[in-house]
Amino acid sequence: MSQITENVKRILAELTEGVELVAAVKSRRPDEILEAVEAGVKILGENYLQEAEIAYETIGTRAQWHFIGHLQKNKVKKAVQLFDMVETVDSSQIAALIDMRCRQAGKVMPVLIEVNSGREPQKSGVLPEDTERLIRQVAEYENIRVQGLMTMGPVAGDPEDSRPYFVETRNAFERIKSLDIPGVEMKYLSMGMTNSYKIAIDEGANIIRLGSILFGERPPGK
Ligand SMILES: *Cc1c(COP(=O)(O)O)cnc(C)c1O
Repeated sequence: MSQITENVKRILAELTEGVELVAAVKSRRPDEILEAVEAGVKILGENYLQEAEIAYETIGTRAQWHFIGHLQKNKVKKAVQLFDMVETVDSSQIAALIDMRCRQAGKVMPVLIEVNSGREPQKSGVLPEDTERLIRQVAEYENIRVQGLMTMGPVAGDPEDSRPYFVETRNAFERIKSLDIPGVEMKYLSMGMTNSYKIAIDEGANIIRLGSILFGERPPGK
């Protein structure tokens, strides 16, 4: 068994019931991504539209595609064609564009709202205290369905350092869920990467996004 296959099977076997694995595939070759899919990965997460288009030629609909990067306004039309979910909506402007392009394409796009749980000025995502307001705005768009929250949290050396950010995001998730906002279905909480996924699951994540632990270290600078 090659390394990617072995890694995917090991992670899938250890995953808690009800937790979905997104394989984060940025900078991976299409043949590596295909191997992961053949080993059982059902959802691929891409940060870059151009990369996704290339890999899509090999993988197509054998997996679901989640957009997990920063979506540029001029890429929304293509993104809407290719992706099954956008995990990184963080403004009503980007939501409005997704809505418009989905209406033209006759689609409804499930989205997660990205929360900047570390309150880092340079990072994307909406601040935890602004999340409810954004969700109420996005809920008005007919061709978008809000289905939960996603967060990265600050890059941490010690996985335990991620816990407070996951807890804060989970608290926001539960609070907004309890509001029963019409058109909003709070069912996914996407948090945790290679370094932190066990803690994320502890704190309620039901989508984890893993790259290096499946595919090996990324080439420097990627
Ligand atoms: C790269 C990336 C991941 C996976 O990171 P690893 O540390 O390699 O597991 C998860 N989520 C997002 C948004 C990413 O960009």
